[in-house]
Amino acid sequence: MSEIAENFGISEALKELGLQETNNGTSTGKDFFSNGDVIESYSPVDGSLIGKVKTTTKEDYEKVISTASKGFKEWRTWPAPARGEVVRQFNEELRRLKEPLGKLVSFEMGKSYQEGLGEVQEMIDICDFAVGLSRQLHGLTMHSERPGHRMYEQYHPLGVVGIISAFNFPVAVWSWNTALAWVCGDACIWKGSEKTPLTSVACQNIAANVFAKNDVPAGISSLITGDYKVGELMTNDKRVPLISATGSIRMGKIVAQAVAARLGKSLLELGGNNAIIVTPDADIKNTVIGAVFGAVGTCGQRCTSTRRLIIHESIYDKVKDALVRAYKQLRIGNPLDENNHVGPLIDKDAVKNYQKALDQVVEEGGNILVEGGVLEGEAYESGCYVKPAIAEAENDFKIVQHETFAPVLYLLKYSGDVSNALELQNGVVQGLSSAIMTNNLREAERFLSVEGSDCGIANVNIGTSGAEIGGAFGGEKETGGGRESGSDAWKIYMRRQTNTINYTTELPLAQGIKFDL
Ligand code: NAD
Repeated sequence: MSEIAENFGISEALKELGLQETNNGTSTGKDFFSNGDVIESYSPVDGSLIGKVKTTTKEDYEKVISTASKGFKEWRTWPAPARGEVVRQFNEELRRLKEPLGKLVSFEMGKSYQEGLGEVQEMIDICDFAVGLSRQLHGLTMHSERPGHRMYEQYHPLGVVGIISAFNFPVAVWSWNTALAWVCGDACIWKGSEKTPLTSVACQNIAANVFAKNDVPAGISSLITGDYKVGELMTNDKRVPLISATGSIRMGKIVAQAVAARLGKSLLELGGNNAIIVTPDADIKNTVIGAVFGAVGTCGQRCTSTRRLIIHESIYDKVKDALVRAYKQLRIGNPLDENNHVGPLIDKDAVKNYQKALDQVVEEGGNILVEGGVLEGEAYESGCYVKPAIAEAENDFKIVQHETFAPVLYLLKYSGDVSNALELQNGVVQGLSSAIMTNNLREAERFLSVEGSDCGIANVNIGTSGAEIGGAFGGEKETGGGRESGSDAWKIYMRRQTNTINYTTELPLAQGIKFDL
């Protein structure tokens, strides 16, 4: 174990989470096995090896899918509140293990310890939500046009749900899907990111213990591990009626086509290119806090990270100067040390993409306001620490149109009315999160109106990142259109059935059609 790992209690955390030096990354519950290559998981915090995970082969996958399909047939017959009780117990374990799991998230992914804890808190929150939901999986009843008939609709479990998740939320996204899918009566097979395999095994350990205690059939919580090839085993598999995929737009386009080719359902949560509009009536202090947290939090690696600030010309210089001052105060370093604001990027490829973006914005005519750069020295020996940068740019620059998953913030200027700002904000292919900073009611309402933001999330006087689980989460356009988490997002994990019951001695036909024999 490295010095940082020792000082911040990583060994204890790994032990509490049941992780070993080498772990099997395939599981159908208590049963862990794996016959594929080994992934070594290195921490972006200090470059040290945290542990190893064996990947899933095609044969391993066959065992998983057949166990999950069989398990589903029993699980779907459990009353939904009984399934909710299992999720409640799973939640108790998450509460007990919040600190070690949050620490592992921080050390394996590189986000701050506070954000690691926040991610586990999101798991806890969605489980609370799901337990209540287990008593409310409601359908509607409607009046029939035929006398003596009753009509209603009900929701049944869908089957095996395949979950593919990204590195930046290595645990929360899994739980957003599983907590709901489990109470809905589905079996879940999860392929986490190959960049954060240990957190996946840790989560599966927690679920497996609780499920075994409750005699939940094998396969209801299943794990597979590996890169896109392992993901493709599920996306091409007719036995998996729903694929919930979180990641880049590039990945989403491939997955969507594979799933559509077999007429399966997909729930896509893809990249964003999120903007905050800052109007002349904005509270500048809150704008700066919201924008800086949005741009540099998780080192700019949130799908909801703030990438563009669209500032009215009348306050442009004021906001710009305040931002530059705020960036000077940022402390970059070990994310487990709570004195630091910004941790590392996930790996050296991400560092290269960050550098490319900074070069490109200059090539396209942008002006660097806050210099970027890769940090060197003992404290940064993983090679993944970079300086958050700010550039003045134009919305139609190719690099501004593209989501660079790093702390690069583009400042754009608008003049005139808020509709000009909205045109810029909506003038990208992505449609995840958006915000307006204004104390002007008319501007706020126009931003929220049908002619306003075209994103799945539209906030007033808060930044673009940091959603609560109670609302449906997701975005439009190339962000994929999926919705997860709160509100009625549960419906995608179930199949809807309309039932009509005739309690008369006659057989009247709909639309008054006559058919007498
Ligand atoms: P990525 O697309 O590289 O990988 C995501 C997951 O998809 C991984 O598990 C990967 O193995 C798998 N995958 C890749 N190609 C696949 C294929 N052809 N078939 C099946 N599986 C495949 O993304 P990443 O770098 O891990 O994450 C960053 C991206 O995720 C960003 O674009 C970010 O905006 C996005 N993201 C979106 C949301 C959201 O809710 N909208 C949330 C988190 C992350």
